[in-house]
Amino acid sequence: MQEWRERGDPLVIERTFGSRLFDADGRSYLDANASWWSSSLGHGHPRLVAALRRQAESLCHTPLAGIAHAPAAELAEALCRVAPAGLEHVFFSDDGSTAVEVAMKLALQFWAQQGRPERRAFVALEGAFHGETLGATALGGVEVFRRPFEGALLECHHLPPPLEPGSLDRCVDALERTLARDTRRIAAVVLEPVVQGAAGMRLYDPAYLRAARELCDRYDVLLVFDEVMSGYGRTGPLWACAHAGIAPDVLCTAKGLTAGILPMAATLTTRRVFEGFLGDPERAFYYGHTFCGNPLGAAVALEVLRVFEDEHVLERAKPKALRIARAFAAMAALPGVTSVRSLGMIGALDLAGDAGYLARAGWRVYAEARARGAYLRPLGNVVYVTPSLNIPDADLDRLLAIVHESVTAAAGGA
Ligand SMILES: *Cc1c(COP(=O)(O)O)cnc(C)c1O
Repeated sequence: MQEWRERGDPLVIERTFGSRLFDADGRSYLDANASWWSSSLGHGHPRLVAALRRQAESLCHTPLAGIAHAPAAELAEALCRVAPAGLEHVFFSDDGSTAVEVAMKLALQFWAQQGRPERRAFVALEGAFHGETLGATALGGVEVFRRPFEGALLECHHLPPPLEPGSLDRCVDALERTLARDTRRIAAVVLEPVVQGAAGMRLYDPAYLRAARELCDRYDVLLVFDEVMSGYGRTGPLWACAHAGIAPDVLCTAKGLTAGILPMAATLTTRRVFEGFLGDPERAFYYGHTFCGNPLGAAVALEVLRVFEDEHVLERAKPKALRIARAFAAMAALPGVTSVRSLGMIGALDLAGDAGYLARAGWRVYAEARARGAYLRPLGNVVYVTPSLNIPDADLDRLLAIVHESVTAAAGGA
């Protein structure tokens, strides 16, 4: 905070459109991270803006407190149609963190009502990021976000993700040992499928997800996938768990749900979990956020799904994903770059030197990119792009060229 205040050169954005941000001085920047992985259809998509305007004219908000409305009902139905198999019920909330918070409370209350109130602990991965609320912080495995709250968090076992080649069996063993040892006490295993976003766009083997599915079935523990970042086509298919061909018991989605236009989230679950809340009034899930199921968000989210279909967004993103993969592969040879990776509409590279969220190397590249007209916010020493899925090819090529030039310049090359 102090550095930000003292150096003070804020980027003041006045307007956005498509893949560009425009600042108060009239400069434009390609949005390399699609406003933190949310603006998947570009800024200001005319159909989404029109859906928002239409909805605002008739019904902006009523809480879903003994009240139903068409936008939320239609969205729930549409989500279940495109969701991984077996997810038949939807709970709406406000953002990615609360989608995860809902998943955690669902799991805890579900087990309590199954006569297993001692199931209070969670399992997550080292380097995990699941949001900012206190429950989600407990699942988080990024040290700098977690440390200030140590001692005030729910119990969570953090296990290694299979990042290195050949580490899969060892990581699955660790999961199995933990579940076998603590079956009695574990409520859920929570994973970001295939890609750990905030940890630095770290990719891991989908076979781990299949193993987790099998183990959760064997020990009857809930499997939660946090698709807040990986969902809505970011990794190729609509949901990242499709890489593994399996479905979770609970799925969290936000960010791409409204394509970054409004804060809204959904937590999907199975009939089994849903039915665990039927019966006496005290068995209900009392989670009454004021803005649960907000009609504006729901109307936009519905239109997002229609745009995905009408504009063949996933299909048309495939050649764009290839452009990203090729560009990042070529950057492996640049000075200062230690590794590169890509999956779907994600391309990332690691810079030499300190690793972790507070590493400075990425910020030197950020400064070079800003001067060249791109907003390229790093994750410590990780420089990455996660542009909108429909970014025009010319913008994408320019963005990738800026990344290349900026990495080179930051290494003292040009
Ligand atoms: C961003 C993110 C969250 C939190 O979402 P917010 O909308 O910022 O609260 C949770 N999980 C993952 C995987 C995320 O990337």
